[in-house]
Amino acid sequence: MNIIIFGPPGAGKGTQAKNLVKKLNNIQISTGDILRDEIKKDSDVGKKIINSMNDGKFVEDDIVNKLLEKIIFDENKKNKLIFDGYPRTINQAKNLENLLNKSNQSIDYVIFLNVRKDEIVKRIEKRKIIEKRSDDDANTILKRYDTYMEITKPVLDYYSKKQNFHEVDGSKEINEISQKIEEILNV
Ligand code: AMP
Repeated sequence: MNIIIFGPPGAGKGTQAKNLVKKLNNIQISTGDILRDEIKKDSDVGKKIINSMNDGKFVEDDIVNKLLEKIIFDENKKNKLIFDGYPRTINQAKNLENLLNKSNQSIDYVIFLNVRKDEIVKRIEKRKIIEKRSDDDANTILKRYDTYMEITKPVLDYYSKKQNFHEVDGSKEINEISQKIEEILNV
């Protein structure tokens, strides 16, 4: 099955995606990780995106959409996709739908991890100490949250009308959230 884990920065999308990878043997598609990798490799894409990423801004749709294309058409990954951090804009959501249609796939579940802003700020400050991510400082966190509210919230509204949409309280303990998600997926 293909799943979207949706939610604001710091909601725990990556943690829950990793849990599902273990459980289902699916593949985590974290656009954040893919983009950070491009920066590490110092590729042409990496050079283009480093400033916006450090600033907490979104990378251009065209760049992210292109990176996704190869993955979606990869036969080994078909119907095993767990999207973490994608789509983040309406343009990306439409692109995803289009690519999935073309490859005879669909999204089976959208899981929305709902967490309040104050809780997120606390969490990301902790993550900065552990993961040392350059976009995790207090100012950037607030910027990333505002970007989420402004640009990604409409994507949430788009998915929340669909039948495969499920909301989970993302402020609970990690294991409790995992359990809830597994109940929804029936695994
Ligand atoms: P994440 O690891 O998902 O929190 O993403 C970290 C950063 O990568 C974001 O703040 C954006 O700058 C960039 N990024 C990740 N995914 C996307 C996406 N789908 N669209 C645009 N930018 C993205």
